[in-house]
Amino acid sequence: MAVDSLLSSPLGPPACEKDAKALQFIEDMTRNADAVQENVLAQILARNAHTEYLKGFNLHGATDRDSFKSKIPMVTYEDLQPLIQRIADGDRSPILSANPVSEFLTSSGTSAGERKLMPTIKEELDRRQLLYSLLMPVMNLYMKGLDKGKGLYFLFTKSETKTPGGLLARPVLTSYYKSDHFKTRPYDPYNVYTSPNEAILCSDSFQSMYTQMLCGLYEREQVLRVGAVFASGLLRAIRFLQLNWQELANDIRTGTLNRKITDPSIKECMTRVVKPDPNLANFISIECEKENWEGIITRIWPNTKYLDVIVTGAMAQYIPTLDYYSCGLPKACTMYASSECYFGLNLNPMCKPAQVSYTIMPNMAYFEFLPHEPNSVRSTHDPSSKLIDLADVEIGKEYELVITTYAGLCRYRVGDILRVTGFHNSAPQFQFVRRKNVLLSIDSDKTDESELQAAVENASRVLRGFNTSVVEYTSYAETKSIPGHYVIYWELLVKDSVNLPSDQVLEQCCLAMEESLNSVYRQCRVADNSIGALEIRLVKNGTFEELMDYAISRGASINQYKVPRCVSFTPIMELLDSRVVSTHFSPSLPHWTPERRR
Ligand code: AMP
Repeated sequence: MAVDSLLSSPLGPPACEKDAKALQFIEDMTRNADAVQENVLAQILARNAHTEYLKGFNLHGATDRDSFKSKIPMVTYEDLQPLIQRIADGDRSPILSANPVSEFLTSSGTSAGERKLMPTIKEELDRRQLLYSLLMPVMNLYMKGLDKGKGLYFLFTKSETKTPGGLLARPVLTSYYKSDHFKTRPYDPYNVYTSPNEAILCSDSFQSMYTQMLCGLYEREQVLRVGAVFASGLLRAIRFLQLNWQELANDIRTGTLNRKITDPSIKECMTRVVKPDPNLANFISIECEKENWEGIITRIWPNTKYLDVIVTGAMAQYIPTLDYYSCGLPKACTMYASSECYFGLNLNPMCKPAQVSYTIMPNMAYFEFLPHEPNSVRSTHDPSSKLIDLADVEIGKEYELVITTYAGLCRYRVGDILRVTGFHNSAPQFQFVRRKNVLLSIDSDKTDESELQAAVENASRVLRGFNTSVVEYTSYAETKSIPGHYVIYWELLVKDSVNLPSDQVLEQCCLAMEESLNSVYRQCRVADNSIGALEIRLVKNGTFEELMDYAISRGASINQYKVPRCVSFTPIMELLDSRVVSTHFSPSLPHWTPERRR
């Protein structure tokens, strides 16, 4: 196809022939969003007609929207969990999908404290790859010359386990980085990373990060973009540099590899990278020794044009810190995806974070939208009847995303709330509003209200021997320091003032809370080091009453007032912090192993 033939495309002109094809694909999909969706649904239903799940709803082979909508209910993970458990236990019959389940993807969303297990099929990898292949062609429309340098991306694989039935269970990115799609990707001048595959594939997070940072330092002049999947990951890398720059500079000065790097494949590949470069070592030492780390990213990687990190949703809390370290470089949020399904991409990746909208690609799955009415009284009507198709959503309205995938999820509630901001051709574009029920999040952890409540109850047990109880609590995600950590404000009722809980006892309360938080939280604490020790801030008696008075003074109803279980509004934070009488941190790491507890 001639590049010229696409010059009139709204997504043009493409940077090269390969990009032209990708942009044309986006145009084709988005111009025909509804027809593509109808076709995707028919394909999924035809293929999975004989699965136990679909047979149970008497579709009798129908593949049309009306039959699907009238017979298939909307479900949550908990509804599917017994079926998913059977697959995990080794039942190979076609339960959800006609295609064999190739592995489980472990979501950062949890159910009963453990990561949700998402069965997937082999061909889904191709679909994910297809979405990835669209990202650079779109980026090249806005940023010229990205083929003249490299990307410093901090990418990680995490530990994997096997289910009782012998299938692998691992995060979707680990599955992708370990696939041939990634490992043997063809050379693409627009997509060259400084990190060697060997470092990305090493599941020891220290060795992986160290090597990726070292390679990034050696190639500092070539780096044109710096990124990680989420903002929290990039800030973790900066923190790593703060803690380890001396050792990194020493390696560069001497041309040797730190003895802590023991992974044989990393050692082998680094023989081609590590060489003595005293000038570079001096430069790094001078920059990193400085008290002030403002603009460190642009100082060390001076040719960086933008940061490639997701800063939408829970990650928006990191925007000021990223701006500080990068002197306000543009932040590109390129895609929106999950373990269940990759959804879509941002067609204007250089826009400001508040303007980011993702265009859902109609070929990825069948998408429906449940109008989100947070204050509506729960109706007795079947909520499935309210589901709206992709092409029919309305600008300005909020919806919960519901998906039907090739891997066999049918009308599955993802839990994300999205707002329609516009359309690209006939495909709607969505702002990510928030994930339902998430109270606290630092990295990929998501803690909801009931988990926090259970953690507080667990910790309160430690106080029983002191005739003390927690009368009120609230929480805050502290992200000014790296890594961030959970702060829990406690107001205590002390009945026996001669037997007060000591600092040590309150530290044990911190740990008891961490022990009862979900496995993603504990993994971030233990394996990834991406969350710091949980902190309890004890506040004076009467503080929560003051909090209520404050809310009422701002218009809250006395009858309906409830203590917010998470706070972030500055005046409230100031009120709470001014009443703090003592602070206590978790003294050690909670328990975590890759194995699931159940
Ligand atoms: P996981 O299942 O662990 O892969 O997490 C997927 C979830 O991460 C999604 O359902 C969203 O809640 C969140 N997420 C993914 N991509 C984005 C994005 N670009 N912006 C905001 N949140 C996102």
